[in-house]
Amino acid sequence: MGTCLPMTEAYRLTERARLDARNTFGVPARAEMLVEVRDPAALPELFGYAMLRDGPVLVLGGGSNLLFAGDPAGAVLALVSQGIAIIDDDGERAIVRADAGVEWHALVLWTLGHGLAGLENLALIPGTVGAAPIQNIGAYGTEVREHIHVVEAFERGSGAVRRLPAAQCAFAYRDSLFKREPDRFVVTAVEFALSRTPDLRLDYAGIADELASMGIESPTPSLVAEAVCRIRRRKLPDPAVVGNAGSFFKNPIVPLAQAEALQREHPRLPVFPTGAFPADAALHGATAAGPMCKLSAAWLIDQCGWKGHREGDAGIAASHALVLVNHGHASGMQLLDLARRIAASVQERFGVAIEPEPRIIGAGW
Ligand SMILES: Cc1cc2nc3c(=O)[nH]c(=O)nc-3n(C[C@H](O)[C@H](O)[C@H](O)COP(=O)(O)OP(=O)(O)OC[C@H]3O[C@@H](n4cnc5c(N)ncnc54)[C@H](O)[C@@H]3O)c2cc1C
Repeated sequence: MGTCLPMTEAYRLTERARLDARNTFGVPARAEMLVEVRDPAALPELFGYAMLRDGPVLVLGGGSNLLFAGDPAGAVLALVSQGIAIIDDDGERAIVRADAGVEWHALVLWTLGHGLAGLENLALIPGTVGAAPIQNIGAYGTEVREHIHVVEAFERGSGAVRRLPAAQCAFAYRDSLFKREPDRFVVTAVEFALSRTPDLRLDYAGIADELASMGIESPTPSLVAEAVCRIRRRKLPDPAVVGNAGSFFKNPIVPLAQAEALQREHPRLPVFPTGAFPADAALHGATAAGPMCKLSAAWLIDQCGWKGHREGDAGIAASHALVLVNHGHASGMQLLDLARRIAASVQERFGVAIEPEPRIIGAGW
């Protein structure tokens, strides 16, 4: 495990800590110093120590959206605070505050159990609450930004605790201020605005069919979450069985003209409009190149013949072309090497750059 140093109520330090079980690819990695923080009030003290103040610090949640291609430099900080509470409630809309260390799916179940709707389509996404705003997690037609009220974060540079309303988080497709400036903030808690009146989204990727196959005619948010869980369990490999980080590639966003040209050549290529949210429009929308479109990275990768491909223990899932998998003992570098070749083949065949969704530690893309 590594050497445990004296522990305080607020945090625990472990030297030379193994991270193999702390990343869902299950690849070997080690932290020079692992700092597990139970009470975020200790962050100013911790960032007063030279190693954290002056050196690189990786904030680690459940390790389900990163790839260790090498050991992280410097310290690794994990928030393990576990509180969830309703902090405001007018009988119709409630604000739920959850600490960064809470498991995401546990929060989804907690909110549903308290009669609060909104997070049901995001059921069963692995990882922690603190990581949810980082890439603005999304699934089945919902993104977490729609329900984030405030992100509370410790700002390393100023040492201040900042309360950032959603509008200040620069949320976009798998993106946020936090993802773009990974060394600036440690997210300590997230507050969600949820409703007692469900606004169910059933029109995405088989949810309605799944509910029908469950014999449900009048769905509730909890039943929608159950349907999402059933679909996800069928479609995505379980990291406890086969190492993976979910979708390894983001859907590429290209100018409409390029999407149309590609679709003329490949009529079956799935193309989706972007710009459903104002931030997307600013980020990807009306540029000099005109409106933008999202392409299906899974389709592009599948067309290049990678689905189900395996080299030693590194591969692509047979069930899903976006999911890079570790069948056993692949190293992070072997997985990264395969991912780079997949992206290069898509670039060569379609002229489209695809980028990784997880953060790559210890190497560049
Ligand atoms: C099987 C599977 C399915 C998945 N499905 C989806 C999906 O449907 N939709 C989706 O969006 N994602 C999906 N993911 C990706 C992943 O679950 C999410 O991105 C999740 O939010 C990552 O949480 P984590 O705690 O594991 O973060 P980690 O992997 O530990 O960290 C991810 C990033 O967030 C940063 N970070 C983590 N915690 C904090 C914090 N408290 N403060 C500041 N920075 C922090 C890290 O430094 C890193 O840059 C899936 C992954 C798997 C394995």
